Amino acid sequence: MTNTEDTRTGGKVLPITRWGTPVMHEVTKPVEHFDEELHQLVRDMFATMAAADGVGLAATQVGLGLSVFVYDCPDADMVMRRGVVCNPVVTLPEGKDRVLDSSEEGCLSHPGGYASVSRPDRAVCHGLDEFGNPVEVIGTGLLARCLQHETDHLNGTVYGDRIPSRARRKLDREVADLAWRYPDDWPVSPKLTAAVPPGAAE
Ligand code: ZN
Repeated sequence: MTNTEDTRTGGKVLPITRWGTPVMHEVTKPVEHFDEELHQLVRDMFATMAAADGVGLAATQVGLGLSVFVYDCPDADMVMRRGVVCNPVVTLPEGKDRVLDSSEEGCLSHPGGYASVSRPDRAVCHGLDEFGNPVEVIGTGLLARCLQHETDHLNGTVYGDRIPSRARRKLDREVADLAWRYPDDWPVSPKLTAAVPPGAAE
């Protein structure tokens, strides 16, 4: 069966794993079985990504050391692109084709903070879809950044590992300051949207 409606809708929202949890900092295992168990994971990852308003989500972010990510992300033409990549490998431009973009980046596993991360503005990602069919995703705009960010997750790298230590400290402070907004099981429990933390002086 290759009906993506069946594998990409109807999942349940899972808590998002945070930076510092060991699974987020280890290389994942390749997907070998493209079975119902994988399809249920993919459904749940789509539901979790949508609940958290994300553009991409790696399996490590729901606590599993398996090499698969999902995305639902605009490209440079603002076309929404949606899909699944198992065992991804990213190819980046070299030489004069390599143009770096330093936009702000965030991560659902370190919520509330953003930092400038320099990455090539184009990325090609090869892998397999949830049925084991080869896929090639050509990423421009935010999708180029997303493909690199999610593949990094599956290699045990978070974007905080790619920025200078001073920027990392600033990022960690931002996340700590906004931590009250994000319950431990977020996005199962929603983000708090009050202007100030509960109990804070007005
Ligand atoms: Zn992330």
